[in-house]
Formats: sequence, C-alpha cells, structure tokens
Amino acid sequence: MKEKIVQLAQELIRYPSISPNDEGCQKLITERLEKLEFEIEWLPFNETLNLWAKHGVGEPVIAFAGHTDVVPVGDEHQWNYPPFSAEIVDDMIYGRGAADMKGSLAAMIVAAEEYVKANPNHAGTIALLITSDEEAAAKDGTVRVVETLMERGEKITYCMVGEPSSSQTLGDVVKNGRRGSITGNLYIQGVQGHVAYPHLAENPIHKAMPFLQELTTYQWDNGNAFFPPTSLQIANIHAGTGSNNVIPGELYVQFNLRYCTEVTDDIIKQKVTQMLEKHGLKHSIEWNLSGKPFLTKPGKLVNALVDSIQGITGITPKLETGGGTSDGRFIALMGAEVVEFGPLNATIHKVNECVSVEDLGKCGQIYHQMLVNLLDK
Ligand SMILES: [Zn+2]
Repeated sequence: MKEKIVQLAQELIRYPSISPNDEGCQKLITERLEKLEFEIEWLPFNETLNLWAKHGVGEPVIAFAGHTDVVPVGDEHQWNYPPFSAEIVDDMIYGRGAADMKGSLAAMIVAAEEYVKANPNHAGTIALLITSDEEAAAKDGTVRVVETLMERGEKITYCMVGEPSSSQTLGDVVKNGRRGSITGNLYIQGVQGHVAYPHLAENPIHKAMPFLQELTTYQWDNGNAFFPPTSLQIANIHAGTGSNNVIPGELYVQFNLRYCTEVTDDIIKQKVTQMLEKHGLKHSIEWNLSGKPFLTKPGKLVNALVDSIQGITGITPKLETGGGTSDGRFIALMGAEVVEFGPLNATIHKVNECVSVEDLGKCGQIYHQMLVNLLDK
C-alpha cells in the first residue's frame, strides 16, 4: 500500500495547484475511482472545482474529505528542491502540499481503493469529498458541496478529514472538534470638534473606555472537557484625524472571539449589544461568523479511529480541538460525526514542506483499518 500512496502523492504534488486551481489533480483521482465503479459527480462553483464520489448504497455514509489546493510557495530560491518536483530524499517527500494535504489525500484514496477492491459489496457507502479551495477564501468549496447535499437530503454519517493533525509523532493527535470564530466590526459614534472646546464635542474614545474594559475582561465561560474557555481579543482599534487639535467623530474597534460550545454566536451578539446599551454608546456593528464550533464526542467514529491508530502505531492519540478552523466545520453542519487525522504538521505552509514516506504508508493503513472497524465489525 505504501508504494501506491507515495506514487500518487508524488503525482499530485507535481500539479502546481495553488488555490483555487486544481490543475488536473481531481481528474487524476476520478480516473482511478472510475475503474472501481465509484459514482463520480462534479460540483464546480465559480473558479473552484469540487468532487463528490461514492461507492455502495445506504448508510452508514463514510466520507473522506480533503483538498487538492496548496498555498503559494513563497521564495522559491529558499527551497532545497523545486517545490513541485516531489523529490524523495532520506525517505521524505519534499514539495508544496506534501503534508497539507496531498500526502494524506493519496493515503485516503488508496485506502478506499484497497477496501473497495477487497469488499466490492461492502455495507453502506464510502465517499470522497474533495475541493480545490480550502486554503484561500473557501467560499465555493466544501461549504457549497455541503449545501447541495443537504438540499437533496443526502447524509454523511462519519467524516474523516485528512488534515495533518499529528504534532511530534504520527498518531499523537486527533482533532475531534474545532472552536468557533466570530469577528465584530464596531463603530462608536461621537461628535467631532476642537479639542479646546470639548463641551461642543463628544469624544467616542473617552466614552468607549469603560465599555472596552468590560468587553476585554468579561468571562464568557470556563470551557469544558474538550475546549479551553472562550477568548476575545481586540485586533484593531482606530480613531482620530491625525491632528492633535481635533476630537474624533468616530472610533473603530475590531475584535475576534475563538469560542467553545458553551456559548453560541447569538449569545455573543446579544451580550455585546447589551454591554453597548448599558454604557449608552451610539454605535453600529457588523458581525462576520467564519465558523461555528463543533465537537464529536468519543463514540463510534472516534473509537474506530483511535483503535486503528493504536493498532498501527502503538500510540494512544490525544483528542484536541485547538488550532484554526478547517472544512470540518461545514461538514459538521450536516449532523455528521467529524474527526481530523493526518501526518505531521511541522512544515505545513513553510519552505521545504515535507512528509515522511513511512508515515504516509501508516496513514493509509490507519484509514483502511478505520473502514474495517466501521463497516465490518
Ligand atoms: Zn489543509
């Protein structure tokens, strides 16, 4: 299995598929899946190419999710090997996307192929949800596929996102959830005037200070067994005309919350509005919700994966919910159990990104064993 994975990973890395370009990766994948009688459906939206491929019928529907796009290479001269050459040196494959996530994408595909070859009449459905824009705007990728599937009433029971989750050694970390992320763009209005005539003006900075104090010290929750407490950070604050004799007319404050499952975006919005009203601030606010939090509690999927990792690596993974957001946030909206597991993330988005050949082989075995655990037992 390892040789097949490595060969496919190299082929994929050689396509320079910087978001949202797919450059032929998904065509290569579908040609392989068609041979095994996967049902192929293309779901392109604007520049983004998406693939929904299925084998089998009925539930459970086990979906492997991943992306073919990569981030830009940065300064090409800093790379020891050309970033789209997929050279193997000392058992490491070098190239943009090697770890994030063409390596694990190859491992998921080969694992699904091997399972289907050995069990052509398997129970349930094995699916692949692949997009060419996860790294950039991600507006026409997985989120649109999920909307389409939900409109049709299609289900995903269990989803494995192949993002590189491992930290020090393969198998040490599984992500079983992610925090939510919401941004507030707040404008507090005052009345502009001359600093020498403050009684004719209203300084929005002065007026906002007690509110900002409360906003930044408020304890949203205490977190829970799976999440750290919700945190709020001010990312930008701006007022003033540049002149030292003008009281500004408006104060702009941008803040972001990384929030856990103890609160919701509605609770956050209500509480901030309440604070603004309490302090009597004239204001307008625009909210931008990038992702709701999700959590997959230990159950059938988590157990199938943990058991498989233990069997193949001898390691018991830690369940974590930290880090940024991922496409898992969209798939969780379908009511699916979602986990993320893949190779080491130490070099992702850096120059000389690389992945271990040995680890990719084991990833494939782990994904394969997870299918066995979910479908055969
Ligand atoms: Zn990724």
